[in-house]
Amino acid sequence: MAFFRLSDLDVRGKRVFIRADLNVPQDDSGAITDDTRIRASVPGIRDALDRGAAVMVTSHLGRPTEGQWSEADSMAPVARRLGELLGRDVPLVRDWVGGGAWHAALKAGDVVLLENCRFNKGEKKNDEALARGMAALTDIYVNDAFGTAHRAEATTEGIARFAPVACAGPLVAAELDALTRALAQPKRPLIAIVAGSKVSTKLTALRALAAKVDGLIVGGGIANTFILAEGGHIGKSLAEPDLVGEARAILDTYPGKVPVPVDAVCAKEFSATARPELKAIENVEPDDMILDIGPHSVALLKSMLAQAGTIVWNGPVGVFEFDAFAGGTKAVAEAIAASGAYTIAGGGDTVAAINKFGIADRISYISTAGGAFLEFLEGKTLPAIAALEARAEA
Ligand code: ADP
Ligand code: MG
Repeated sequence: MAFFRLSDLDVRGKRVFIRADLNVPQDDSGAITDDTRIRASVPGIRDALDRGAAVMVTSHLGRPTEGQWSEADSMAPVARRLGELLGRDVPLVRDWVGGGAWHAALKAGDVVLLENCRFNKGEKKNDEALARGMAALTDIYVNDAFGTAHRAEATTEGIARFAPVACAGPLVAAELDALTRALAQPKRPLIAIVAGSKVSTKLTALRALAAKVDGLIVGGGIANTFILAEGGHIGKSLAEPDLVGEARAILDTYPGKVPVPVDAVCAKEFSATARPELKAIENVEPDDMILDIGPHSVALLKSMLAQAGTIVWNGPVGVFEFDAFAGGTKAVAEAIAASGAYTIAGGGDTVAAINKFGIADRISYISTAGGAFLEFLEGKTLPAIAALEARAEA
């Protein structure tokens, strides 16, 4: 995979436009509750500044109505936090697409935050005139937002086609290096774990993934759909009945590749205080909810993971937020950490589980992205990355 990297370009005296992912969670008062993404974006910004660029940074935040500024989706809190992290004032610029006085005044060593890119009409539809207007602001476009790379929007894809130079920032470059290493020529066996609650989006990715891997571990609502496909009972568990046929097709096409759980930890209600009941799948009752995999299933997965050369992990195999149903995810996490494999994990809740079980430093690479991560695993072309590659060929 060939693309230009910010670290390889001479940025001195140049205008640099960085599309970052600063989409942080906020509480009702607008206060930032987790600044991980802002902190993660600092190295790219600082690198460009330290090497004498004039830096503009933008991101989306929340889901504003396009064409309309709103206080609730303003990046003002992000500008303040970024300023604290950089140790300097970071002015926030509104209505920035056409340039103007702020742009004329921008000089080497300056940094500004450009207000929520989704305030601009046409951002999500990747409007060409908008993308050209953005591209006209800069000498170098930097994509450092892997989490949105699967979406073709004006700040992720269009601008990359029209800016004089387009390159990957350090986060995107690291992400692509790690994913390529895991998937281009993986050390085998390659085992993927796909679990969690986003059943339909994830299940539809599985067929393409199953073709690439040597073993596919399913968990959570995805596993429940596979149990249904095998004719088993899941009571009132999370599943996608519409995709039972798809699950069946995967089992038939790849016999032996996809182990389906044989036992489960069930509950009568979805709550932290629910009483856990260990059951073989054939004993699951109509009013049961499967909230975790059981010890026989765990043992099987552990033996698969122990032999793996490469492991990619997206999605907790149980409701790990409730201690009584965290055992399966904890065991899987520890088996991944203990394996000698090259290991890569991604997804918001997956990362939360990794942190909860304290294994972050024993995972080879932790991806910040969820959707983009899965689409890359599936072998889909990520439009924002394709745009960078096209510019490196030209
Ligand atoms: P990620 O954010 O890592 O991509 P998802 O968002 O798809 O993962 O799913 C994470 C959620 O899935 C967790 O909150 C977890 O509680 C839930 N989950 C896992 N197993 C089950 C299950 N059997 N039933 C209901 N929810 C589950
Ligand atoms: Mg999630």
